[in-house]
Amino acid sequence: MTKFEKKENDMQNAFIEDELLEYVWVATEERGNANTEAMSEKFGKETLKVVLSEMIEKKLITNHNSVIHLTEAGQKKAMQIIRRHRLAERLLNDVLGVSDEVFERGACQFEHFINEDITASICSLLGHPTVCPHGKNIPPGECCSHAKRKLQPVFGPLSRLRTGVKAKVVYISTGSQESLDFLSSIGVVPGLAFIVHHRKPSLVIRFGETQLALDDDIARYIYVRIITR
Ligand SMILES: [Zn+2]
Ligand SMILES: [Zn+2]
Repeated sequence: MTKFEKKENDMQNAFIEDELLEYVWVATEERGNANTEAMSEKFGKETLKVVLSEMIEKKLITNHNSVIHLTEAGQKKAMQIIRRHRLAERLLNDVLGVSDEVFERGACQFEHFINEDITASICSLLGHPTVCPHGKNIPPGECCSHAKRKLQPVFGPLSRLRTGVKAKVVYISTGSQESLDFLSSIGVVPGLAFIVHHRKPSLVIRFGETQLALDDDIARYIYVRIITR
């Protein structure tokens, strides 16, 4: 095996290790245990054997009569993977409006590449959600306990903002080219920072010298990130 092949191989196994940790976590959550028989169907007998013995050596799991349990270290690691996976699901589902089967695939890849800091940012952006779109628990992170008192999302449609809130346009979700053209012609484009001048009787935002009244019908398609409330 060349050095490169070895690296590839190690990466592949790390990837499978993550998937296995996740699998054991979910199987335990759903059925109370995880057995190797069901796993070898999913991962292939040979691969499973290699990766499982590596994981036993690393003290991430134990294997008693083909029933796999997570050790404390394994549990900790799996919890982080599950957290990333379910937050990714929320992000893709709530923010990007990605459909169920697409996000299932997307989330599975995503969770391997986002680090702790990004995970915390996503969690804060979404208001520290406690369940995934399928209603399963999202294990809380450190950011969640810091934020216990103000569990409001920092991201959402402009139509939900109150007077005085400062925010920045992140994206515009309308499928209508006409609305997009209209909004960009009046300067409402991603990146625009503004303040909600007043909310009633109609929504008026202010940026620079400009004051702009927006219909709720349009404002609910404009997604913003709150800067200060
Ligand atoms: Zn889910
Ligand atoms: Zn959080």
